[in-house]
Amino acid sequence: MKKIGLTGGIGSGKSTVAAMLAEAGFRVVDADKIARQIMEPGSPVLAKVAEEFGHDVLNQDGTLDRAELARRAFGDKESTQRLNAITHPAIRAESNRQFIQAETDGAPVAVYDMPLLIELGLNKDMDLTVVVDVDAEERVKRLLTSRGLDEADARARIKQQIDDGARKAAADWVIDNNGPVENLAPQVERLIESVQAGPKK
Ligand code: ADP
Repeated sequence: MKKIGLTGGIGSGKSTVAAMLAEAGFRVVDADKIARQIMEPGSPVLAKVAEEFGHDVLNQDGTLDRAELARRAFGDKESTQRLNAITHPAIRAESNRQFIQAETDGAPVAVYDMPLLIELGLNKDMDLTVVVDVDAEERVKRLLTSRGLDEADARARIKQQIDDGARKAAADWVIDNNGPVENLAPQVERLIESVQAGPKK
């Protein structure tokens, strides 16, 4: 099974590309979705997070109060690391489980849609690293209009990630999403053709 890592800065269009690859029949392992799943009410990860950061990070109904956790965990590096120490191993374990499942199911290709692929060095485990590239200023604009973030929040999130030059340097394949969304489909098609034509791993 061929493993494709798909990454890019927040707001670059990763999820849009992942949806196109899923549409084409590629298995997609979605790290953001897994990150939400492991924090569902009643999960051991959420219990550990509440123990570490205080029970005020939980809403009355036992769901995670994301804004409160962000206030407590993203203010300084040490707190962020404490949170990551709880969540990252769980995300890794579930991601691995889904890759193994894809292999068991006989999927020829599995795509890892992972914002921190390069930051965490996981690109080393992939056969191909695909980066969706958009200028940071354009990403800020898209995050404001489409995701309702305020500008300071969007810029803070972008700042937490690897810079665009370093990300592109780690790419085997770059999808340029600076233009209109219509420009994506032909680029994604070229990627699919190349993956399907390449040697099976
Ligand atoms: P990511 O998963 O990388 O954070 P998304 O795929 O969610 O990014 O895209 C961020 C937002 O930008 C979405 O609302 C998406 O519909 C929009 N978007 C994606 N590509 C384009 C484009 N080429 N032009 C304008 N908006 C776009």
